[in-house]
Amino acid sequence: MSIVIQKFGGTSVGNEASRKRVVERIIEKKKKGHNIVVVVSAIGRRGDPYSTDSLLSLIKTKYSNKRDLDLLMGCGEIISSVVLSNLLNQKGFESQALTGGQAGIITDENYGNSEVLSVNKDNILNKLTNDNIIVVTGFQGITSKGDITTLGRGGSDITAVLLGEALKAEFVEIYTDVDGIMTADPRIVLDAQVIDEICYEDLYNMAENGAKVIHPKAVEIAERSNIKIKIRNTLNNSKGTIVLRREKAKNNMPKIINSITYKDGKTQIIINNKKNNKNIQQLINLFTKSNISIDLISISLETNMFTIDDKDVTLAIKILSENGYNYSLNRDCCKISIVGHKMKGIPGIMSRILKSVYKENIQILQTSDSHSSIWILVKTKDTIKATKSLHKEFNLGKK
Ligand code: ADP
Ligand code: MG
Repeated sequence: MSIVIQKFGGTSVGNEASRKRVVERIIEKKKKGHNIVVVVSAIGRRGDPYSTDSLLSLIKTKYSNKRDLDLLMGCGEIISSVVLSNLLNQKGFESQALTGGQAGIITDENYGNSEVLSVNKDNILNKLTNDNIIVVTGFQGITSKGDITTLGRGGSDITAVLLGEALKAEFVEIYTDVDGIMTADPRIVLDAQVIDEICYEDLYNMAENGAKVIHPKAVEIAERSNIKIKIRNTLNNSKGTIVLRREKAKNNMPKIINSITYKDGKTQIIINNKKNNKNIQQLINLFTKSNISIDLISISLETNMFTIDDKDVTLAIKILSENGYNYSLNRDCCKISIVGHKMKGIPGIMSRILKSVYKENIQILQTSDSHSSIWILVKTKDTIKATKSLHKEFNLGKK
């Protein structure tokens, strides 16, 4: 039995017209003889009535019961799975909606960002026949005790690829509102190009560094089980991006630089060593104990600098003050990534990065690098200008 997983993101099911396209996509594949498992996200984005953010906004005060919060967040996907299943029914196809738990997705109890422990495929396989399309609520699982959990932002991608793995699907299609994974976010770089073929490793780097489209964990799962992924636009027939092993790619000589991505919502913390008698390692330990993740660490004799996510700033300030650190904060920062392959040590790249950013009179607050990325930290207000300029400098745009 050939199984295909089709995942539709929030914007793909955002209104009646796009839901009509989604149904057409499913029926097209069905008619080719595949058995279809659909994974669906909550309807729409921030502001739309049943989106995850809108559901969360119903609770005004900070709510500490994370278990209940997951119950609330899980509603968005349940609603959209039933709406979609119903539309398929109206078109004359048998279908059934399943919650994450009913689809066999068992997680730990880390509410809000649960880890999937196992996938029990029996229920889906029992229900999946040539005549029955299964619509699974994305982003959701269940603990062994029966509590609903969620998998973190972008978690529907994880659901889709995990089901692809468990059901030995022929391929997994990720449908979204852009034509594939691109050399930059097309919302800010108008001449960004679709990357037709990409290997798991490069896609992971892009996803990890902020190219939304697919969750990095989903890419990791696909790589470990060699699952073929296609990223496509729900609304048009463009070819999209195919994800495969590097050795299978048409062009297996990867580009040194393939994209510019960014992650917003960062705060830089600067510790002046002359004014502190505590060492940085103690501070990092304190942050680790409080689950604050630290990025872009740069240590020198005079100053230590690193970044944290904005959501952790209040807790970080408390830790810094209670432990008597002398520090300064630089809020509203954005980490821009120049993503590629084996770029470390290649002469000239850093100087081109600096040239293209300074040309726009943008200040670089910090840099760091690895073999597959160079990161620069800038103020959020400079993100668009810097991204555009870097994209141009490395000739990534449409020719
Ligand atoms: P979905 O609701 O389908 O899960 P996401 O918002 O998670 O959609 O991902 C799609 C969005 O990712 C696009 O609308 C686009 O603006 C953004 N994006 C950011 N970086 C990239 C990139 N490099 N290539 C394509 N899209 C990108
Ligand atoms: Mg997404």
